[in-house]
Amino acid sequence: WQQKWVIGNWKMNGQLQENNSLVHKLRSFQTVPNVCIGITPPTVYLLQVHNAVQIVLNNPIYTCAQDVSRFSEKGAYTGEVSAEMMRDVGVDIILIGHSERSLYFNEKNDVQRQKIENVLKVGLIPLLCVGESLKEREDGREKEAVAYQLSVFKGLKTKNFAIAYEPVWAIGTGKVANREQIADMHQFIYDEVLSLCGNDANIRVLYGGSVNDKNAADIFSVPHVDGALVGGASLKYEAFAAIINAAQ
Ligand code: 13P
Repeated sequence: WQQKWVIGNWKMNGQLQENNSLVHKLRSFQTVPNVCIGITPPTVYLLQVHNAVQIVLNNPIYTCAQDVSRFSEKGAYTGEVSAEMMRDVGVDIILIGHSERSLYFNEKNDVQRQKIENVLKVGLIPLLCVGESLKEREDGREKEAVAYQLSVFKGLKTKNFAIAYEPVWAIGTGKVANREQIADMHQFIYDEVLSLCGNDANIRVLYGGSVNDKNAADIFSVPHVDGALVGGASLKYEAFAAIINAAQ
């Protein structure tokens, strides 16, 4: 891909005022050739972020959601937000299956598959997060683990989606996968998804896990890295701006 995606995942962080100031600073990136920026705030701030980025013309900033309901029809599902509602408030991309969803909410492949279908049905882009645990890597089973997670794509008709490779041991730990590990896994993900969904699948693979202003340029130079999904460093303007610049 010519154009890299740099998506900030705020996780459960943010407040009206600080969101406003961060997004306004990011809007100053008038022309960042070859980079697409995305912001993933908590659900309750999606509309705020969407409204704030909407008027950016030269270099649109995508509004992304951290999760979505597995139910597609509106109705009696207290606490849930549907993909259709996400689209209604201006969401472009929806994260599916972040490892924190499996860790704290026991989310499994079947639920992720339902969510992906719901996202595709309303014309948005699902961004599936995959990645092995430390134990799986130590046991040499990292590809087996990632292949299992990718199997949710099997037989999908729509072919426009994205994947983030986020090794669980690299998330929020300051430990980054090395160039060989990233290159090897990204190649594997490309091969695996193309074999599951057909060679005409339109995919991109981002890296996530302790990406920061110091290591971003190196990570972006690894083959098959089409962007980054950034957690902690996306909460600070200077760090996130430096990562965006490194992607150019
Ligand atoms: P950190 O960048 O804080 O390690 O988080 C990565 C992540 O989980 C992004 O979704």
